[in-house]
Amino acid sequence: MMRPPEKRGLPASSLMWTADRPSTVFVQGQGSWLTDKEGNNYLDFVQGWAVNCLGHSHPALVKAISEQAGRLINASPAYFTDRLLELARKIVDHSAMDKVFFTNSGAEANEGAIKLARKWGQIHRSGAREIITMHNSFHGRTLATMSASGKPQWETLFEPKVPDFVKVPLNDIEAVQNALTERTVAVMLEPIQGEAGVIPASREYLSALRGLTSREGILLILDEIQTGMGRTGTLFACEQAGIEPDIMTLGKGIGGGFPLGALTARESVCCFEKGDQGGTFNGNALAMAAGLAVFEIVSRPEFLEGVRRKGEYLRVRLEELSSRAGQDRVRGQGLLLAMGLDSDEGARIVEEVFARGLLLNSPRPDTLRFMPALTVSEEEIDRMIGILEEILIRKRFS
Ligand SMILES: *Cc1c(COP(=O)(O)O)cnc(C)c1O
Repeated sequence: MMRPPEKRGLPASSLMWTADRPSTVFVQGQGSWLTDKEGNNYLDFVQGWAVNCLGHSHPALVKAISEQAGRLINASPAYFTDRLLELARKIVDHSAMDKVFFTNSGAEANEGAIKLARKWGQIHRSGAREIITMHNSFHGRTLATMSASGKPQWETLFEPKVPDFVKVPLNDIEAVQNALTERTVAVMLEPIQGEAGVIPASREYLSALRGLTSREGILLILDEIQTGMGRTGTLFACEQAGIEPDIMTLGKGIGGGFPLGALTARESVCCFEKGDQGGTFNGNALAMAAGLAVFEIVSRPEFLEGVRRKGEYLRVRLEELSSRAGQDRVRGQGLLLAMGLDSDEGARIVEEVFARGLLLNSPRPDTLRFMPALTVSEEEIDRMIGILEEILIRKRFS
C-alpha cells in the first residue's frame, strides 16, 4: 500500500516528537564508544542516562542475554523461573532489603513504592497517605511519579495530579519536621538528585532523616534508580551515608541497558496482598538474566574499588579543567559528577562537543553532567577532557 506523501518524508517524522535530537543515527556500540551510520565514532559519557553501567555490548551481558533468549524468554508472572529467584536472592543478599518486586522501568518501581507506602499507611498508620518529597526531585514520568517529583516545569502539566505529595527543600531537616503531620506516611528522596543537576543530599541530612522517620514511625523511601548499582562507588549510595531505608527503588544500571527496575523493601513494610501489584512483563526471564550478569560484575569489591578510583580521577581532572576555564564547582560522587558553569551555555557546549565526537548531557542550563560507563578507562577520561577543554578554554565555537 502506498503511503500518503506527507508520511513519506524523513524517517523521524513517524516518531512522536518529545525531544530534540541530532540527526545522527547510531547503529553500533562497544564499551565507551558509539558508531553512527556513516562510521563516525563517538565517545559516550551519557551511556543511556547512567544506564549502561558496563558500557555498550559488554561481552558478559551479550552472552547472558543470548543464552537466555535461546533457553527461555518469558514464562508468566504467574510462575517462578530459576533466573527470577536467583536475581531476587542476589539483591536481598547484597542490600539491607528483604524482598523484591521487579519492574520494567524506574518510574514503575517508584509507582510501586508509592502504592506500598500508601497500603502500609492504611494498615499501620490509620490511613495516613501523604508523602513528603523534595523540591527539584525526579521520580519518573507516570502520573503518580510526576506528581511526586519536584520539577518546577511539571507543576501545571497534565492536571489534575495525584494528590498527597508535600514538597520541601532538600537538605533542610526542619522543613521536613514542619511538614510532618498525622497524615504523613513517608519521606521519599534521591541520595543525589540526578536530573536536578547532581545535587547531593548531605550525609548529615540523610542520617537525620533516618532518625526522624524512625522516631515518627513513618517510612524512608530512597530512590536509588540513578545512584544505585555502583554508580557512586558503592553498590548503593545510602551505604556511604551509613543509613538503611525502609523502601529502596532501583532502575537504570540494574539491567545494564536492558529495561529493568526493582522495588525493594524491608520485610515489615511488605504488605501487598494478592492482586495488589503485578504486571505482564515483570520479572521475565530475559530481563532477569541481564540483571544477573550485571549484578555479578558490579557487586564485586574490586569492581566498586575501580569505580571509586576512576571517579576520583575524573573528579580531579574536571576540577583542574574547571578552575583553569573559570567555571564553577564539581559536584557528585563516584562516576556521577557534574560541573557547574559560569553561564547558561550547557546546551550549546553539548552541541559543540557532539560535533567533535563526544556525548555529554546538560541536565540544566548551567550544568554539565558526566555519567560514563563504570568500565570507562583513564585514557577515555583523558580523551573526554581533551575535547571539553577545546571548547571551554580555547573557546573554539564553530
Ligand atoms: C531515571 C530516573 C527515574 C525514572 O526511571 P525510568 O526508567 O526512566 O522510568 C526515577 N528516579 C530517578 C532518580 C531517575 O534518575
